[in-house]
Amino acid sequence: MSHLATPVQMSRVFTHLLVKRIWWLSLLLAIWGCQGPLQKVEIEHAAMGTRFRIVAYHRNPQQVERAARLAMGTIDRIENICSDWKSDSEIRQLCRTAPSDYPVKASEELIEVLSRAIEISRVSGGAFDPTVGTLVRLWRRCQQAGRLPRLDELQRARQTIGIDGIVIDSDARTVQLLREGIAIDLGGIAKGYAVDAALKVMEAQGIKHILVDGGGDISLGFPPPDQEGWRLELQPAGVGNDTDSDRVIRVVIGSRGAVATSGDASRFVEIEGKRYSHILDPATGLGVPGPHAVTVHAADGTTADALATAISVLDEKEAGKLLDRFPGSSALLFDPVGGPPRVLGVFPGYPNH
Ligand code: ADP
Ligand code: MG
Repeated sequence: MSHLATPVQMSRVFTHLLVKRIWWLSLLLAIWGCQGPLQKVEIEHAAMGTRFRIVAYHRNPQQVERAARLAMGTIDRIENICSDWKSDSEIRQLCRTAPSDYPVKASEELIEVLSRAIEISRVSGGAFDPTVGTLVRLWRRCQQAGRLPRLDELQRARQTIGIDGIVIDSDARTVQLLREGIAIDLGGIAKGYAVDAALKVMEAQGIKHILVDGGGDISLGFPPPDQEGWRLELQPAGVGNDTDSDRVIRVVIGSRGAVATSGDASRFVEIEGKRYSHILDPATGLGVPGPHAVTVHAADGTTADALATAISVLDEKEAGKLLDRFPGSSALLFDPVGGPPRVLGVFPGYPNH
């Protein structure tokens, strides 16, 4: 019997060695990929009338891009659920069922964001109120006409307001709207909810060092590697002297959490010589007097966004009491004429500039 290999055997051995080599090569590449340098990746996306930005540090930029595409898809989905500007959004469709004798099926996200909105409305004594929609529309119409709403208009709009007009069954995933004309406006909370959701999607894809910014509503994952925290620059335009770079407040936020800013800088109207915000005081039905700006730090973006809107309505004492309900939360109240901000609670990394 000959010990010489036949050509067929030779080619098998060769193929075997080749496969083995490719296998080793892939393994080495994978190990190198895991230990390669961390790279900063930034991705932007237009949604909800603003620019969303995802900043992440990872060894594999392609993995970040794939995850970011999923996260941006989630933001678009939340916009289609919560938007007051899209007539076919889920919330607008739901509002068209009011007043309803029966509960209506709703998406998981709508149940969640609406439940959070109602909770913050309760603890803020109605300063934050997601049923303020009819007043918001009235205010927008009057803004275009350059006049204040008439008393009868305000009274009519007020009849549609109140969270007791919303019944949520989380287990059955339904919402029933009891009040005629109720208009739910999630404009003060939806962006915060969206940045939280995007952060969760990225984390589920294995990205840890991450920041999601929805035009000032920022949700934070773990800080950049080897850094003590995320360096954020806060300079709410429209209060004090915008061009004075000394007024930029630099904070370093250690781990996770969220920051949201509400203010009237780009969204105010002047009527009869007075400046009013696009944020309404549900008690008066009028825009909050401006200029004003507040930055809130809280455990998550949903809370920070809604609290920033609520605190825009409340006075300092009431704002402090509201923050007490959310352990670890804090706020910077910007001075309209440019002095240092008032600090409520312990704002992380401030003063630090
Ligand atoms: P922005 O989204 O402009 O950064 P906010 O988060 O404070 O600012 O949200 C403002 C939006 O919230 C308004 O455009 C309106 O849709 C809605 N809104 C206004 N007043 C209130 C209020 N008192 N409670 C809840 N939502 C409000
Ligand atoms: Mg808000």
